[in-house]
Amino acid sequence: MNCVYDYKQLCNDLIRLEKSFPFLKTSIMGKSIKGRNIYLIKLGEGEIKVFYNAAHHGLEWITSKIVMQFAFDYAKRYVSGVRLCGYDIRRLYKKASIYIAPMINPDGIELSKKRASWQANARGVDLNHNYNAGWEEYKALAANAGITKRCATRYPGKGWESEPESTAVANLTRQIAFDYVVALHSQGEEIFWQYGKNPPPKAEKIGRLMSQVSGYALKQTSGLASYSGYKDWFIKEFNRPGFTIEVGKGKNPLPISQFDEIYKKVIKILLLPEAALS
Ligand SMILES: [Zn+2]
Repeated sequence: MNCVYDYKQLCNDLIRLEKSFPFLKTSIMGKSIKGRNIYLIKLGEGEIKVFYNAAHHGLEWITSKIVMQFAFDYAKRYVSGVRLCGYDIRRLYKKASIYIAPMINPDGIELSKKRASWQANARGVDLNHNYNAGWEEYKALAANAGITKRCATRYPGKGWESEPESTAVANLTRQIAFDYVVALHSQGEEIFWQYGKNPPPKAEKIGRLMSQVSGYALKQTSGLASYSGYKDWFIKEFNRPGFTIEVGKGKNPLPISQFDEIYKKVIKILLLPEAALS
C-alpha cells in the first residue's frame, strides 16, 4: 500500500508550490533527528499572525496533505482573484500572515510505513508530549500507565523540548507573536481548546466559530491527553488561544479516500484568521 503522504511527496509538492507561486515564502525551520527538513510556508503579509502545524504524529500524515492542499488552493485563488469558500484571498493576504509547518515529524511518518502503530519521532519520543506544560505530571501519569521508555506512542522524552522537532516548533513560536495556533491531528472530528483553569481571551469564541464552520465538536481534554502537548504549552506560555483539531473519523492512519470529505470541513477552519479575530 503506497498511498501514504510521506516526506518525498511533501518535498515534491513544495518544489511544485515554489515554482508555480514564487511570491510564497518557504523556509526550513529545523531538522529532524534523521536530518530531514522541517519546512515552513508563509501565506500572506498581514498583521494577524497564525500558525498551523501538522503531523506531530507519524500515523497522522493526512494532516500534512490537508495543509499542503490549502497552500495550493490559497495561492491559486490569490492569483485568480476568485473567492475560496466565500473568502477573498487577496484581502486575506493583506490582513493575515498564515504560517504553515506541514510536517513536524517526517521521521515518524517514514517509520509508520514499516511499523504500523508508530506515532513518535525516530527516538521513540511522542513529540506532542514533549512540551513544557505539565510535563512532570504527564511523565508520572505515563509511568503509572506503564510508559517509561522510548516506544511507538506517548513516551514524553527525557525532558521537555528534548527533541529537535519540538524545539524547532517552540523556537518559532517564541520568535513570532502568533495570535492563535492550530495543531492538526487525526482523528475524532473534535476541537480541543483548553489548558488549565483560565482560558485565554477569545479562545472559546474562536473555538465555537471553528466548530460552527466545520461541524466538529468543541471538546474538553481529559486523562493523559491533557498534558504536555503543543497547544497546552502555547496556552500556558502565552495566554493566547491554542487549538488541537482532530480531523476525520475512524482508525489511524485514516485512508486517503477520506481526504476530500475531511478537507471540505477543515478548509473552513483554515480560512478563519480574519473572521476569528474581528
Ligand atoms: Zn496526534
